[in-house]
Amino acid sequence: MSHDEPSASGAPTKLVIRNIGLLLSGDLQNPILDADTVVAIDGRITGIGRQKDLDTEGATTLIDANGVALTPGLIDSHVHPVAGDWTPRQSQLNWIDSSLHGGVTTMISAGEVHTPGRPRDIVGLKAMAITAQRCFSNFRASGVKVHAGAPVIEPGMEEHDFAELAAAGVRFLGEVGLGGVKDGPTARKMVAWARQYGINSTIHTGGPSIPGSGLIDKDVVLEADTDIIGHINGGHTALPDDQIVSLCECCKRGLELVHNGNERAALLTLRTAAELGELNRVILGTDGPAGSGVQPLGIIRMISMLSSLGGVPAEIALCFATGNTARLRALDCGLLEVGRSADFVFMDKAQHSAGRDLLHSIALGDLPGIGMTVIDGIVRSGRSRNTPPATRVPAIAG
Ligand SMILES: [Zn+2]
Repeated sequence: MSHDEPSASGAPTKLVIRNIGLLLSGDLQNPILDADTVVAIDGRITGIGRQKDLDTEGATTLIDANGVALTPGLIDSHVHPVAGDWTPRQSQLNWIDSSLHGGVTTMISAGEVHTPGRPRDIVGLKAMAITAQRCFSNFRASGVKVHAGAPVIEPGMEEHDFAELAAAGVRFLGEVGLGGVKDGPTARKMVAWARQYGINSTIHTGGPSIPGSGLIDKDVVLEADTDIIGHINGGHTALPDDQIVSLCECCKRGLELVHNGNERAALLTLRTAAELGELNRVILGTDGPAGSGVQPLGIIRMISMLSSLGGVPAEIALCFATGNTARLRALDCGLLEVGRSADFVFMDKAQHSAGRDLLHSIALGDLPGIGMTVIDGIVRSGRSRNTPPATRVPAIAG
């Protein structure tokens, strides 16, 4: 479903969402907002508050939330896209659209490593990264923002290569360690060059994911000093517990937990981050498509798993997939805050969940039901075809 595309005339679009039952901000410091209405103009949030206090006149789209919760669109910090809404990894179509039905509105590529015949020479890998960046910004499957074009570093790259990539619009490095650079000193040098040109970085942490990839242990991860410790819970094979604890304690970088990883190691990381008072470092990804397939509900499954087994309140676990990721990845979405991108998910308790309400149902380990998604102020999907049915769903009122 697509409603209210920006008008060809250039007239402003105004989205008003009223009758919100619970507003989850995505901000760890203040996860629940006292508000029932959100206004967005031309895809940006312009007002959050009580309906009587906001200018809700002249809406081009009016949504009655019908008492359900509104959250920021979820961010998957770790995907491996190839081309459009197709992945050769498990020969699947429409995995991005299916993820939108799991509440994901933004994805970050950790490298287009499943591209058949992907080039590993420097000019080739740069060309492929720039092509992927262009393709995914020119074509957004179901409106989902896929930040692709994530080069995987190879020996021999020089500072000017990173300058050229950044100038061409590349913003993220693919997982360090998936290419020929597997040693700490080389990784550190290249990651620093990337950072100097504004490119955010991540690393493959743990054992090999598939035949042909290798082990990256804690010493390499610490030396490389990427912005994100990619799948600290393994993708799939996790490091020994003492190495995971040291990664949490010995640096301040992002701690990425993925669905395609070791769940026990994810809980260990969560517990350690909580003991350090550093839950602001925890972010979520799926690491799909991969050997484990694609996970349209991977992010909400992680939220529910971490909340129910890790003892974190649901509204906090939601921040791992929204505000935390936006901050550590420098994105303009992920928070319900004036000026941010108008990317939203409408959620309610799934039908017949034993939970008293949405948050309690997640704390019990159930998945939420998704009733609608919005990206850039435009309705992108209605009642999810993938989640259990939400008890109540929003409606377009005008
Ligand atoms: Zn990996």
